[in-house]
Amino acid sequence: MVTKNSALLEKKLDQTIKARKALETARKHQVDVLSNFAVKLSLSCKGQDVALDNQLAKFRSALQKGMDFEAFEPLIESMSETLKHQEATNSANSRALQQSITQAGKQLQKIKGLPDDGRRKLRFLLDNELSNINAANDYIPVIEKLSDIYQKALQLKVLKTQSASDDDTSALQAPEIANELMNLANELTFDEDVSQEVKVIKDDINLSDGVDSLLNSALNIIKVIVKSISRERQSAQGFLVSLNQTLEELNSSIVATTKHSQSVNKKITNLNKQIESKIQSLNSRTQKATSISELKSLVDDELKLLSQDLIERERIESLDKQALYENFNKINDRINILETKVNTYKKRLSEQRFKSLLDGLTKLPNRSAFDDRFNQEFHLFGVNKGDMTLVVIDVDHFKSINDKYGHSAGDKTLQVIARALKKSIRKTDFIARYGGEEFVVLMPGMNVQHAKPALEKLRNAIKSIPFKFKETQVQITISLGATQFKEGDTPLSAFDRADSALYEAKNSGRDRLCLRE
Ligand code: GH3
Ligand code: MG
Ligand code: MG
Repeated sequence: MVTKNSALLEKKLDQTIKARKALETARKHQVDVLSNFAVKLSLSCKGQDVALDNQLAKFRSALQKGMDFEAFEPLIESMSETLKHQEATNSANSRALQQSITQAGKQLQKIKGLPDDGRRKLRFLLDNELSNINAANDYIPVIEKLSDIYQKALQLKVLKTQSASDDDTSALQAPEIANELMNLANELTFDEDVSQEVKVIKDDINLSDGVDSLLNSALNIIKVIVKSISRERQSAQGFLVSLNQTLEELNSSIVATTKHSQSVNKKITNLNKQIESKIQSLNSRTQKATSISELKSLVDDELKLLSQDLIERERIESLDKQALYENFNKINDRINILETKVNTYKKRLSEQRFKSLLDGLTKLPNRSAFDDRFNQEFHLFGVNKGDMTLVVIDVDHFKSINDKYGHSAGDKTLQVIARALKKSIRKTDFIARYGGEEFVVLMPGMNVQHAKPALEKLRNAIKSIPFKFKETQVQITISLGATQFKEGDTPLSAFDRADSALYEAKNSGRDRLCLRE
């Protein structure tokens, strides 16, 4: 009887130990999944703020060293603080930007003789639209340029009001402002949904008949920029807020799970001690028993108590398992939601980064992409001394296309020319739209003499495109200036040489290639 009961007891103990081990393995697996995800998540937040980056690095190394929940709590708390700070910094930047735009706008309001429509739009911008925006650093230089143009327009305005009879000044300088505004409008790469607005603005600039209408166009450009900033800011801030919230939720779930596990562990340790001491006392009392009946009643009583303890232990463990399971499910759900958000945000960011290196109209690399590549090739030239030809291309009399056939026709022409240029160069050459109707090409492995036949072919390729505007066949030509990198060059000196070759091509009749060795 005693042996049978002991064997039963042992079996029961063995089962509970196994169940406990299975629970621990399952938990360890879930914790590993969580840790891996947290590492990935933290890597995706990199690069927003130095302090945050440092904390994230600590967080990752703590995760990789192994989970010590107590050590995590302060780390997660301080990260949440930094994230909140980040939001505050964004808001402060945005306030500063708003203030400077407001100030500029208010000064403009003080000027007499602003057109009514411009004044109305300016008031609306100051009263309504500005209060809804925040900073996106990328747009600051654009706004600076815009304010520069503004200043010029204002000076003209002042000149005009000071000597009403002398309209010549503004007539002389308005085209220059129009040109600068147009360049600015061309530089901005907007989302699809605002590109229509930008197109209308460009048409307005093209048709403008003086400083008044140019002021309106400048205002409209500000409005489009403000809209884009506001959208970008909302998306970035929304992401930060939700990241912060999920981190806080994750933190409290982990803390709750840890506390729960700690208290369950304590209860089970106590029960184990109780069971152990009961078994020991059972052992010693069975040995001291003198009769079978004494032994029987002793074993019956003690075993009853022991089974109660074991049942209690099983109950607590199954509750623990249930609670853990529910908690992990909750955390998993949150993480899945966040993972989707992080992925969407990352996709947007990389699209934007990519977009910012492409010219919106021709889809060729833009000037900033060219600058990167040019500096990089220059650095390589310093190391390898390999041949490299730089070509600057400018479309001849392009302004007259706009003037005769409209800005949209001009835009389409630029697209066709860009496509033809791209098609006519080698895969290893690099072409970019430098601005307006100017393009640049880098030809690795070629000196100017080698590049000459290919460039003449390029010139003829453009010349033989059968452009047709309003039923009129039009021939468009380009002028090219080319040079090669030389020992002792700086990027600027090489570029100036190519530019002066282009100048010579223009001055000696256009539709030609000039070389500078
Ligand atoms: P040149 O032979 O001396 O180069 O004469 P040009 O008319 O080509 O030179 P200019 O620099 O005086 O004018 C360039 C024109 O290109 C003025 C500007 O309106 C136009 N332009 C610049 N960018 C764009 C654009 O994106 N679209 C359109 N349609 N026109 C543009
Ligand atoms: Mg030009
Ligand atoms: Mg030109």
